[in-house]
Amino acid sequence: MSSSRAAIVLVRGDITEQSVDVIVNAANSSLLGGGGVDGAIHRRGGPAILEDCRRLRASQYGKGLATGQAVATTAGRLHARHVIHTVGPVWQASGGDPSLLASCYRESLRLADELGARTIAFPAISTGAYGWPMEDAARIAVETVRGAETAVEEVRFVLFDERAYEAFAKRLS
Ligand code: ADP
Repeated sequence: MSSSRAAIVLVRGDITEQSVDVIVNAANSSLLGGGGVDGAIHRRGGPAILEDCRRLRASQYGKGLATGQAVATTAGRLHARHVIHTVGPVWQASGGDPSLLASCYRESLRLADELGARTIAFPAISTGAYGWPMEDAARIAVETVRGAETAVEEVRFVLFDERAYEAFAKRLS
């Protein structure tokens, strides 16, 4: 299997403060905003992002965005060219489907390639309100990015707290 030559970089911080070609949003299927990273991106990026999302809902995403899929909008006032919105799977009492979480990373990278992006920042998708255990989410994120065929040169995981940072660091070491 061919794999990415993208450098993986870990940053502890706020994804809305990153300067990259693409900032990935852990959105929900409505695309109309939420808490966590989603709320922060819309707050800091300004209303242009939501306007784009509403246009998507009014056109090809009438039913919203399916879990594991990704779609791009403007990045508004963020220091990025695009926001890619992807919907992570919810962790249930019975567990979660790892292929859907992997799909979020893979589809976002595929779309980033289409957009000609060289740098992309990801949050730890599904590990907040959606409840995915951090260690497992970090494993899936790192394995998927390492296995992806992409022209993106830098994949930056932006981890909000020490626990998330440590989980990703462990996977990279
Ligand atoms: P999900 O619904 O996919 O679980 P959340 O936004 O609730 O998405 O959480 C995903 C992860 O993003 C969590 O680990 C959370 O701590 C983290 N997070 C929240 N705000 C930010 C931010 N501004 N920058 C980076 N990560 C963030």
